[in-house]
Amino acid sequence: MNILERYHAMEYGPAPEARNEADAWLAARDFGKALFIGGGWKAASSGKTFETSDPSSGKTLATLSDANAADIDAAVAAAAKALPKWSASSGYQRAKVLYAIGRAMQRHQRLFAVLETIDNGKPIRESRDIDVPLAIRHFIHHAGWAQALDKDFPGHKGVGVVGQIIPWNFPLLMLAWKVAPALAAGCTVVLKPAEFTPLTAILFAEICERAGVPKGVVNIVQGGPEAGAAIVNHPGIQKIAFTGSSEVGKIIRKATAGSGKKLSLELGGKSAFIVFEDADLDSAVEGLVDGIWFNQGQVCCAGSRLLVQEGIADALIAKVKTRMSRLRVGSPLDKNTDIGPLVDLTQLDRVKGLIAEGAKQGAICWQPDATLPSSGYYHLPTLATGVSPANILAQEEVFGPVLATMTFRNTEEAIELANNTRYGLAASVWSENVNLALHVAPQLKAGVVWINGTNMFDAACGFGGYRESGFGREGGREGMFEYLAANLPLGPEIKPATLSAEPVEQPDGDTIDRTAKLFIGGKQVRPDGNYSLPIADAKGRLAGEVGLGSRKDIRDAVSAARACKGWPEATAYNRSQVLYYLAENLSGRAGEFAARLTELTGASSKMARDEVDLSIERLFLYAGLADKFEGRVHQPPARAVTLAMHEPVGVVGIVASYGSPLLGLISLIAPALAMGNTVVAVPSERYPLLATDLYQVIEYSDVPAGAINIVTGRTAELAAVLAKHDDVDGLWVFADADTCAKTEAESIGNLKRVWSGNGHTLDWASSEAAGDVFLRRAVEVKNVWVPYGD
Ligand code: NAD
Repeated sequence: MNILERYHAMEYGPAPEARNEADAWLAARDFGKALFIGGGWKAASSGKTFETSDPSSGKTLATLSDANAADIDAAVAAAAKALPKWSASSGYQRAKVLYAIGRAMQRHQRLFAVLETIDNGKPIRESRDIDVPLAIRHFIHHAGWAQALDKDFPGHKGVGVVGQIIPWNFPLLMLAWKVAPALAAGCTVVLKPAEFTPLTAILFAEICERAGVPKGVVNIVQGGPEAGAAIVNHPGIQKIAFTGSSEVGKIIRKATAGSGKKLSLELGGKSAFIVFEDADLDSAVEGLVDGIWFNQGQVCCAGSRLLVQEGIADALIAKVKTRMSRLRVGSPLDKNTDIGPLVDLTQLDRVKGLIAEGAKQGAICWQPDATLPSSGYYHLPTLATGVSPANILAQEEVFGPVLATMTFRNTEEAIELANNTRYGLAASVWSENVNLALHVAPQLKAGVVWINGTNMFDAACGFGGYRESGFGREGGREGMFEYLAANLPLGPEIKPATLSAEPVEQPDGDTIDRTAKLFIGGKQVRPDGNYSLPIADAKGRLAGEVGLGSRKDIRDAVSAARACKGWPEATAYNRSQVLYYLAENLSGRAGEFAARLTELTGASSKMARDEVDLSIERLFLYAGLADKFEGRVHQPPARAVTLAMHEPVGVVGIVASYGSPLLGLISLIAPALAMGNTVVAVPSERYPLLATDLYQVIEYSDVPAGAINIVTGRTAELAAVLAKHDDVDGLWVFADADTCAKTEAESIGNLKRVWSGNGHTLDWASSEAAGDVFLRRAVEVKNVWVPYGD
């Protein structure tokens, strides 16, 4: 045997991580008092408990207090009590606390890592080298945001008491992603870990005690869905931050509708791992190992769909199989282990069930020849080939070590396949041609794109999804906004539109009859139902009739908005010029619009002229900002830059109210357009003629067909159609409280981003009703990671 043969014949010896400290910690704790509320340790008021176990053996690790609604009440009360002092403390004071948490975690990082591994089953190499260091970095990074708050987030303040619910796959890291920005923003928190993995949160609460976190600022409750639902529904909570499945995310969206609670949802994914034929295949294979077998594939952004270019498919699959055969499945506490057990038997059964179903639907599922440990919830890494795009393994989030493979012929097909999912969390693009990769990245509907890399995270770089992967970002500047409320100039309550009982008086008859139609796809069209709505002027006389838009008209308008590529793909400079041109053309007819305002609303000539002038000024403002509200470049602690790019949300529905009917409408349409969105606007039910008068201005101003669509009619009815339409990506609703609440509840089909005034209008004339706050609503932030170096 020569030396090389000897080397290859060498077996790995066991390299177990010691668990004695973790066992001592477990033995010393009273888990019957596992609720950390108001700085003290409490038992559940019901006396109920639940167990957490070691997935590598199934053995119980601890029996813990199971919180119910009464315990959540107590936790929220503690958080509310601590809020005034904490939110009023200086940024420096909060920074010191965050820094102390980070440092204290650093001093106990091995214990954190071991506890995480025995509770969750993730290999110690991952908890030790990834989860825990990233969590620590999160606290230290956010110490800086606490101090930078006044300078970097003017006009914003902490939202208040925050309810946070996290999953089991990255228990400590998800806790850090939630708690650090909340504390930096001056919020107090009630956090509930997942019932499978409660332990590291308890150690974290101990750290809070030692790091000088004031009592009640951090409250950690334990329990399952019942405790989670009690947090979601608690009236004393101003924001819910949730990470978990899309299914529960939708329940929460519905439950919080109309409550005025701020909401961020970090949900599931089915991320594409795209390998072009010029990629470095060996690097791509290593990337795949991290992409899909990291944490047994129980990763929201797991690269679970391998899309490979036809010409290299066989070569890549062969390499992947060879590499899979070398993955070591075994005890998660062994430092050589690549794949540990899944978190629980239910998860193992779910993964097996999905593989069986995928095979039934035609997938060929391959696994390496390896023996699994005799106990624990282990599953072999699995490669599915022959997967059709409709196969369950290509569509459903498996949340296990299963890779579904498909091939593509060209770049367009790769993008189409990658976007063929209801999710939109992440994607990886592999090509040695960085131009190609940067051409593809913006076309992927995903919140994070890694170029020649995968699963890279950093506290400075936002993370979060498009589509049904949820909304909101965690990390960095974007993540801070999730815990801050903007000082928007609230206007009066909006009353529901009611059909006027008074007959509308006919006009004198000396004018030529004009029919205001709908404006769809760049054309004035009759409403599908061929009904009209009489519109009264300020004196109750007929001012005109507008089309009564229906479900079909909204559908047509959404199709036109979706089909309009000229606007989102135009350069920001082009969009800016068109918005300037709109302003110019409106100013040419300012007198006419002012007279119309007076006629319809009864406003004085001066007030009407002011509203028109302000509308023109606002168009000018957003024309100017179109090429200035840009993303950032982050420099994470890695050899990479992260481009935080601003992308349009997509098709945005806008429901405007009757307050300042021209200015209010323009104040919403203009920022949406400036950022490249296409718009379906429903003007106020009472004053739609101001919007229909705009058609000609739009027609003269080089706005591409479909960029602006206007459907007049009944606000509540049309808002409901927009809310339920799964091809609408964003919806801004300024309508009565009931319509706002229903819109939020009905938006769950595709989890569109809804911004509602909660029954209030804004003071549109205020300078605070314009600018970045609106532009931020008009963009998705996509973080594109670009590594560099050889
Ligand atoms: P889950 O949705 O079942 O549970 C998540 C949390 O919600 C748990 O704490 C659970 O107790 C709680 N919960 C369950 N029902 C609830 C209800 N009705 N009301 C309130 N709370 C409720 O998800 P999971 O199985 O724990 O985690 C896996 C999911 O999390 C996957 O879909 C994964 O993709 C997702 N995830 C997403 C991200 C992200 O950043 N996008 C990160 C990690 C995990």
